[in-house]
Amino acid sequence: MRFQDTPELAEWRQTVRDFVDTNWRIAGTKDEDDPGFEAPADEGRTTAWLDKLGARGWLAPAWPKKYGGADMSVLEQFVLSQELHEAGAPVSRQMLNLVGPTIMLHGTEEQKAEHLPPMLRGEVAWCQGFSEPGSGSDLASLQTRAVRDGDDYVINGQKIWTSGAHRADWMFVLTRTDPDAPKHRGISYLLLNMKSPGVTVRPLINMANGHVFNEVFFEDVRVPVRNRIGDENRGWYVGTTTLDFERSNIARAIAARKNVVRMANYVRQRASAGDPVSPSYRLEVADRAVETGICELLSFVVVSIQARGGVPNMEASMCKMYGSELSQRIASTKMHLAGMYGQERKPRGLQEEHNINAAMEYMQVVPATIAAGTSEIQRNIIATRGLGLPRG
Ligand SMILES: Cc1cc2nc3c(=O)[nH]c(=O)nc-3n(C[C@H](O)[C@H](O)[C@H](O)COP(=O)(O)OP(=O)(O)OC[C@H]3O[C@@H](n4cnc5c(N)ncnc54)[C@H](O)[C@@H]3O)c2cc1C
Repeated sequence: MRFQDTPELAEWRQTVRDFVDTNWRIAGTKDEDDPGFEAPADEGRTTAWLDKLGARGWLAPAWPKKYGGADMSVLEQFVLSQELHEAGAPVSRQMLNLVGPTIMLHGTEEQKAEHLPPMLRGEVAWCQGFSEPGSGSDLASLQTRAVRDGDDYVINGQKIWTSGAHRADWMFVLTRTDPDAPKHRGISYLLLNMKSPGVTVRPLINMANGHVFNEVFFEDVRVPVRNRIGDENRGWYVGTTTLDFERSNIARAIAARKNVVRMANYVRQRASAGDPVSPSYRLEVADRAVETGICELLSFVVVSIQARGGVPNMEASMCKMYGSELSQRIASTKMHLAGMYGQERKPRGLQEEHNINAAMEYMQVVPATIAAGTSEIQRNIIATRGLGLPRG
């Protein structure tokens, strides 16, 4: 099967490409979505680029224009996302795609006016306070308490794995407001200022020696009731709002394809340098290439359902699970290609030239099958909602 843009989408794709060429793509610049790539090459350049995207509404393409979005159709968003990822350009600000649509759909006009514009301009950083030490996959069992006291809630409890909490100004947090109700019905969604008295952030260092996530403790933290999004005890349903445009996972599919192309180039160059990799590793690279194609096709399935007005469910889970597990298989193949040099944190020579950053990538992809729902949970969804199998 051949996939082709309609004439309108082809024109839109060209518009995006021209914009990217003029404003982002510079020969020789490293992709920001390269695995193993630790920090943006130039923060100022990234900020200037994101500001330009924001000015066009392209940071929140699905949102209405009056809130700083671009009112794009599903397919226009998909093409935008494809082109930005092909160019290795940053596409969003931290957590914007998680908290922004939630406030837009469930927030009051005052909450939208207060939070959406500074979020789009990148003036405030957000973090997600959902997981707790005893509540991850079974998130609805969360225990962090919010007790009403006049015009405030008083919060006590703990969150964990909170990405970026050490840099965040605000947290969107799920709290238990009715401990006696069934677990999904006693949760409220609050916006919490991280500078509030009683908030403590402690770093958690990951296996790649990076400080990405944290533990966050709340001791009698006061949050005004007006910072609640949606109704009291309805926070579970507010919290499950996501931005549709992310669900196709095209970013992961494109990153995987570019990664496999780099591996293939490396293998070719090793052969022409008289140091060929073993045939079994060459076959591994070929397998990864085929799987990358499957990953992209799964993304197309998801976006085609969305474009017809449907809600991908099992399909989005298949995409997430397949893509995250593929990223781990790719990292493993890279380790094989790198041989003993795969132990080194920084690649050298030919490996550096082709970005065979095996050690870093191998460690960085471990969380891919945990964050945003583990592979087991995705398989449960595919089994029950997709195949109609009985719940275990
Ligand atoms: C890199 C990274 C960043 C993260 N950032 C954030 C963040 O910013 N904010 C936030 O709130 N959270 C964040 N998380 C947490 C993440 O959402 C949880 O780790 C995830 O939901 C899994 O929960 P858990 O770690 O408690 O594991 P558990 O739920 O305890 O699972 C442990 C194991 O049991 C399996 N399991 C659990 N239930 C079932 C079941 N019903 N059927 C079959 N198997 C099951 C799981 O698959 C897993 O293998 C992040 C995680 C990672 C890795």
